[in-house]
Amino acid sequence: KLHVQSGYTVIFFKYLICKNTIYTFIVPFLISMLILCQPHLLLVSVEIFLQALEDGLKRADADPSVKAVMICGENGKFSAGADIKGFSSPKRRGIALGPIVSLIERSEKPVVAAIEGVALGGGLEVALGCHYRIAHVKARMGLPEVTIGLLPGAEGTQRLPRLVGVPAALDMITTGKVLCLVIPPKGVKICSLPDVDALFCNSIFLPPGQPLGPRRLSLKPVPKLPNMEAFLSEALVKVKKQAHGCLAPELCFQAVKAATEQPFADGVRREQELFNVLLTSGQAQALQYAFFAERAVQKWTTPSGASWKSASPQPIHKAAVIGLGTMGRGIVTSLVKAKIPVVALEQDLEYLNMGRKAVMFLLEREAMKMEQGAQTLDFHNPARLQFTVDFDVLRDVDLVIEAVFENMALKKEIFHKLSRICKPGAFLCTNTSALNINEIASATSRPQQVIGTHFFSPAHVMKLLEIIYGHHTSPTTIATAMQLAKVLKKVGVVVGNCFGFAGNRMMFPYAQQAVFLLEEGSRPEAVDQVIEDFGFRIGPFRMSDLAGLDVGWRSRKGQGLTGPSLPPGTPARQRHGHRYSPLPDLLCENGRFGQKTGKGWYQYEKAGGRTAKPDPWLHSFLSQYRDTHRIKTRFIDQEEILERCLFSLINEGFDILAEGIASGPEHLDVIYINGYGWPKHRGGPMFYASTVGLSRILAKLQKYSEAHPDVPGLQPSAFLKKLVAMGNPPLKEWMSYLSRPNNKL
Ligand code: NAD
Repeated sequence: KLHVQSGYTVIFFKYLICKNTIYTFIVPFLISMLILCQPHLLLVSVEIFLQALEDGLKRADADPSVKAVMICGENGKFSAGADIKGFSSPKRRGIALGPIVSLIERSEKPVVAAIEGVALGGGLEVALGCHYRIAHVKARMGLPEVTIGLLPGAEGTQRLPRLVGVPAALDMITTGKVLCLVIPPKGVKICSLPDVDALFCNSIFLPPGQPLGPRRLSLKPVPKLPNMEAFLSEALVKVKKQAHGCLAPELCFQAVKAATEQPFADGVRREQELFNVLLTSGQAQALQYAFFAERAVQKWTTPSGASWKSASPQPIHKAAVIGLGTMGRGIVTSLVKAKIPVVALEQDLEYLNMGRKAVMFLLEREAMKMEQGAQTLDFHNPARLQFTVDFDVLRDVDLVIEAVFENMALKKEIFHKLSRICKPGAFLCTNTSALNINEIASATSRPQQVIGTHFFSPAHVMKLLEIIYGHHTSPTTIATAMQLAKVLKKVGVVVGNCFGFAGNRMMFPYAQQAVFLLEEGSRPEAVDQVIEDFGFRIGPFRMSDLAGLDVGWRSRKGQGLTGPSLPPGTPARQRHGHRYSPLPDLLCENGRFGQKTGKGWYQYEKAGGRTAKPDPWLHSFLSQYRDTHRIKTRFIDQEEILERCLFSLINEGFDILAEGIASGPEHLDVIYINGYGWPKHRGGPMFYASTVGLSRILAKLQKYSEAHPDVPGLQPSAFLKKLVAMGNPPLKEWMSYLSRPNNKL
């Protein structure tokens, strides 16, 4: 019997001998992904595990009384695979699970994997080395390595296609899907593990003397497809399209392709080569950073000392949403999907009917995607979803999310009303994109229960929920909003209150640079291409067309930057002494709101169309504009486009950190990955900055701000300068260079 360290997933080796006597010994197995532990501890544990597995198998093979070996997990879980932290440890490379899997397969005694709970990553690869696999009907299996920028490197890319065929293996390996693979035959009783033991002992699964050769996956051919070549080239196109520049899916594809073309041993060598490319690519580190950053931001803190440790969320039994426009309808859908009863309120019956239709459409579509969705969601039941124009119906709700027009006076009026009508404990949330939470809260008699819950469009799809605390927001309110994010299966990130909060505030200089680049000689399609090649799903101009140019126009009119409130005599390309581009305003004045009007920065097949085509009208409009304002046109290369857009966004991020609006760079990265389409394999803007090198970013910002001294967004942040002066400390140390208390994560 070997020592088992607490918290480790374990496997039992059960030697099944002829007289039903069972000797068991336990070895620590690959640590669960969720358990964080010191890399050196892991190293020891994995080595102990591998050694014990090898010794055990050899002993079992040598002992004539042993007839078969069964591998299973403890506590209802087979194995969640290796600790992700171990992958980035350089020492980790010395540990090879592959040869042990081969050893299992070569065993002269039948080896059976009895899978309960999960078999993921290395865990599933162990199971693939066994001669038999038996799984509980609810067991979930997958090779999720691709999601952390790697591939299954213990021969899994070579064995899985031999077991399940190329299409299914490619799907699992290139997407990392975790699946329930067991479909119980009709009438078969689902057994628990003790029953499984009994079944083995009764030799139901292992008829004596059955040869093991055909059970060894490495000896099996990959099942042929009539059109393998065509299938693979089509699959590659699909994989590349979905990868947006992430290497791992394509290299996973290459590894599976090798299985179809080469003998097993050569395929394994190819798998190793590709694994090493990924391990050293930088993308795996970025994806693993993103994985941990998402977990780190759950542990929120505020500069005043409030934190997740001391605050408890209140239960939300019933919620309300006010305004069923673009955002409100998605938010209602999200709440219904999370089985929270909702009251949906609009300003009048006409808007209510429009909103109801839109919500029902979204819910029907969501229900179709879910097994037995319609029954489970039960959204035709008024107890689950009620539509109204009457504020009195909100008396008994626990939480309200306001999503009306972006107008401070209107929001304040609504919050004042809510404060009078809703029960004293109810939380009042606003979905504002940028407005001051404190001012909204001032319209109520309970500012401690007012909070920003900034959803992203489409609200039932996008994972980010930016949670903004105001001056008076209580820790309980923050905890409740974070709990709401969890229940809605979203990622909540707590930030402080400022114009545009963290996400949109960083977006402003980025979008501004994109438009300045047009003024100076670029085209929307050129800028979008550079940003999309970087890995964003959508460039700034296609994004602006999708969201609607009128949204920003309304906001700029509200701020007095354009429209009737602009003081006469204001220079066309200057506001408050800084450079300003009226281009987006001019497009709106021409009725070009983007997709909704069929024209914006691009042209579309019709109003509401989605296929963007470069528009000759816009090109000649831009030339005229440059002539009118005597702007010298020049060729702008890809490097400048990328740097001016991204470095100005990152620069704002440093200011946000310095002001304590976000409590760490991880927060900004999680916001950008989950809400703004920042490519995950680049780890988020702040992580990316750390990989580019802060000195380089600073030097480039200095260069661009010298060329454009009237653009504040290009002036390097004092915090960035400080970090460079301190010798470029690693990202996890950045916050310790700020002098505020409580600034560490
Ligand atoms: P929208 O114009 O599509 O919808 C607003 C809805 O509010 C309309 O249906 C309107 O009838 C309703 N409304 C107006 N006054 C009302 C009242 N007194 N009572 C009840 N309902 C009323 O706007 P939207 O795009 O859904 O934006 C809503 C809020 O969400 C804004 O604050 C916006 O800044 C924010 N937001 C928008 C997006 C986006 O991408 N559209 C993203 C994040 C946040």
